[in-house]
Amino acid sequence: MRSINLPRLFASGLVGISLIAAAAAGAASLPKKGEPPLTAQTQRSGGPVDPDQANLQFDSADLSFEVLPETEQLKAVAVESFTPKAPTDKLVIDLDKNLEPSAIAIDGQKLAASAWSNPDGRLTITLPRTYAAGERVTATITYGGVPHVAVNAPWDDGVVWSKTKDGRLWFATTSEGYGCDILWPCLDFPEGEPGKVALHITVPKGLKAPSNGVFQGIDTRPDGRETWNWEIKHPNTYAIALNVAPYEVITADYKSRFGNTIPMFYWYLPGEEEQAKKLFAEFAPTLDFFESNVGPYPFGDEKVGVVETPHLGMEHQTINAYGNAYKKAPEGFDWLFQHEFSHEWFGNQVTAANWDDYWIHEGYGEYMQPAYGLWREGFARYATMMDDQRNKIVNAVPITRGRWITEEEVYEPSKGGPGGDIYYKGAWMLHTLRWLIGDKQFWDVTRLEVYGRSDPKPGNFTPRFGSTRDYEDDVRKVTGKDLDWFFDVYLRKAELPELVEARSGDKLNLFWLTPDNLPFPMPVEVLVDDKLMKVDMPDGTATIDVPAGAHVVVDPYARVLKRSRAVEDYRAGLKLKQ
Ligand SMILES: [Zn+2]
Repeated sequence: MRSINLPRLFASGLVGISLIAAAAAGAASLPKKGEPPLTAQTQRSGGPVDPDQANLQFDSADLSFEVLPETEQLKAVAVESFTPKAPTDKLVIDLDKNLEPSAIAIDGQKLAASAWSNPDGRLTITLPRTYAAGERVTATITYGGVPHVAVNAPWDDGVVWSKTKDGRLWFATTSEGYGCDILWPCLDFPEGEPGKVALHITVPKGLKAPSNGVFQGIDTRPDGRETWNWEIKHPNTYAIALNVAPYEVITADYKSRFGNTIPMFYWYLPGEEEQAKKLFAEFAPTLDFFESNVGPYPFGDEKVGVVETPHLGMEHQTINAYGNAYKKAPEGFDWLFQHEFSHEWFGNQVTAANWDDYWIHEGYGEYMQPAYGLWREGFARYATMMDDQRNKIVNAVPITRGRWITEEEVYEPSKGGPGGDIYYKGAWMLHTLRWLIGDKQFWDVTRLEVYGRSDPKPGNFTPRFGSTRDYEDDVRKVTGKDLDWFFDVYLRKAELPELVEARSGDKLNLFWLTPDNLPFPMPVEVLVDDKLMKVDMPDGTATIDVPAGAHVVVDPYARVLKRSRAVEDYRAGLKLKQ
């Protein structure tokens, strides 16, 4: 999720109710949006990894949360097991200092308060002794407080205290940008995924707490509150999410083409049954599209889960957030549901180890909507949807920069990031690649990148980490060709290649003008009167015979992402209007 072009849609959305409701209730002491403030350390997610954290294998986390709407607080206990790779006498764990620990125990032994400190959001725990490499250590961290309230989730993060129309609690969390440490003690970088997470979410009576993974039942507490229990394997760090409301649920089993049966759930607000049923009816055909083209649903032994949220959306693993208010679109399906669902493959199954490579999440995540339009309706729908994305490409910063960078250094143009280009330019690069290598090889490359193998079946793969370099290797393996020139231009340069055309007598001369004169042997289609030909340009140039009076259109099906002065002028005009 997160895109610089999306907040316009959000403006008409549902968030904002919480503050109004709080004001109406005269609850002046409750935290306002953006409060309490976060340290720079907590706002940061990813980037170069602290060596003490790189030393830890994160085996498991058992997370208990009490959601306390009266005071807008969280009370929590995290039991977390790590195995150090080299001997260590400390644990360094990210945790927002607004959620201060009140007690910490190591392997059951309570520590003195002097054994830990958390001055800026990086909790350092001095262990009672040195732990050997391979010797598991378990920390029990009791913590809580007022969690940061999101200003504009999911574009910034935190908790969202909202209300349903009839005034009941509607609560959600997001953490993609600032990272998992705004909610629970974690290793806040993509490779900090725990092996498994158990969740125990205690909510006021009458409310429900759908969450990640497999439902483990409800415990009723003596005071009438209920604790909802869940377990998930290999969650993305920012996937762990709390969702609380008086939800109703639709459920059905999906018979996969791979032979397994996948339970599907949609939790929605009361009073929306008709709309909810229509959205739920999209689940099975969308799943079939992904399974037919990419491969098995990655979490078939857990569930397909979607929950209605007071923010637009987020790819929370097996509990995707949906807040698109059932808006209808000419393509006939809900893009937000489809986009977040695509992240189960591109983001949650294959996770970029470095935020620098997040085009793997968002380029694919964005491309899957036109690809689904093509699958459902054919080329005209695909072309329309691709064209909409083409006009949003900025080309100010390369998509990847080959170094360890944080989430905000990717998503925020104000922090020097490519922002929306990881979505739209990423999608257009994939569109171009698909034409260049053909449908079969394109999906073969995609499958290899997602699963790390070409024959994925339920049970023979687990979530993996990927990178741009892996992806280029996958292209090489599948096509037998070295396409470095393709990725060097589209991923590593800001400017697009420009196709220069010149007619002279009965000749058409074509050549690629590229940043830094990089090689770019991209073929192109040319329509000469009614005859379509594919023109190879092995050295970046071509000359073809064209009758002097012929009408010529170069790349008539817009197969290739290339510079468009018309789009540049159009975008400059939009800027002037602002
Ligand atoms: Zn996304």
